[in-house]
Amino acid sequence: MKAVTFAQHGSPDVLRYTEVAEPVIGANEVLIRVRACALNHLDLWVRGGLPGISIPLPHILGSDISGEVAKVGANAADVRLGQKVLLSPGISCGHCPQCLAGNHSACPEYTLFGYMVDGGYAEYVKAPSVNVLSMPQNLSYVEAAAVPLVFLTAWHMLITRAGLKPSEEVLVLGAGSGVGSAAIQIAKRIGARVIATAGSEEKLAKARELGADETILHAKQDIATEVKRLTNRRGVDVVFEHVGQATWEQSLRSLAVGGRLVTCGATTGFQGKIDIRFLFTRQLSILGSYMGGKAELFPVLELVGRGALKPVIDTTMPLAEAAKAHRRLEHREQFGKVVLEVA
Ligand SMILES: [Zn+2]
Repeated sequence: MKAVTFAQHGSPDVLRYTEVAEPVIGANEVLIRVRACALNHLDLWVRGGLPGISIPLPHILGSDISGEVAKVGANAADVRLGQKVLLSPGISCGHCPQCLAGNHSACPEYTLFGYMVDGGYAEYVKAPSVNVLSMPQNLSYVEAAAVPLVFLTAWHMLITRAGLKPSEEVLVLGAGSGVGSAAIQIAKRIGARVIATAGSEEKLAKARELGADETILHAKQDIATEVKRLTNRRGVDVVFEHVGQATWEQSLRSLAVGGRLVTCGATTGFQGKIDIRFLFTRQLSILGSYMGGKAELFPVLELVGRGALKPVIDTTMPLAEAAKAHRRLEHREQFGKVVLEVA
């Protein structure tokens, strides 16, 4: 089969469009004929190499996968040949206390397609049958691939971890990112007031189209000062963080008394300072969040099926142009998801 692989870590130049063996499925697995695979920032981390983490090489990236079922293992129930599906991106053991409680991303064996196992930058990918979900009928393959990882992540952050309420105000950083564009929609859908930041006027206009009530141009405006102005000096109840070092202090300063900062990433750096007096006197909470449980994808897909949440597609490119797609994400040129199409 055709696939994009890399045999050593490095720049996008290490990605090779090449011929590799088709995966062989086990009894509890299915083979998916990939039609679309969306990029995530994780792809860039894995390609570049992560300190202390040994990725099996050569490797195939890609966590967000849609396609049709091409082969079904002997014990893979409830899956039919030819079914149009998307894959729940997380893979876990299925029998530890965390898995049994539905907290799959807290499983000690948790990983993702394209992380410790091969992913969707290929014509075929094998998957545990429990990861298979029917595609909402109103979506194309490209749209379906743009949903799972970012909407699951944003849902787990806002709803499950931060407990965002309709009466509250939320600051969403990086509206142009996949998670940012998902978070604006989820927060707006439940009735919260949304303040979003982005790096250009063009991206801010798109954020308002998605439902942002107010926007901040982070390149020119001080985020915390603007948040205070837009909230009558109160600050926001929830900050949706994934930027990290570059925005950390601004994010903390933007919180109202009793506010919660929820974070799923640190694309600009891993160090963040905090004044502990500020943390306790203002009764703040800092919440880490990582992916989510498989069950959280069900309300997401229900709302996507109704058209109440919409995958945001930045660009589509053929699989062979994966390196170009990586550069677009690396340079933060995108608004929404960059998706590879597999012919
Ligand atoms: Zn487990």
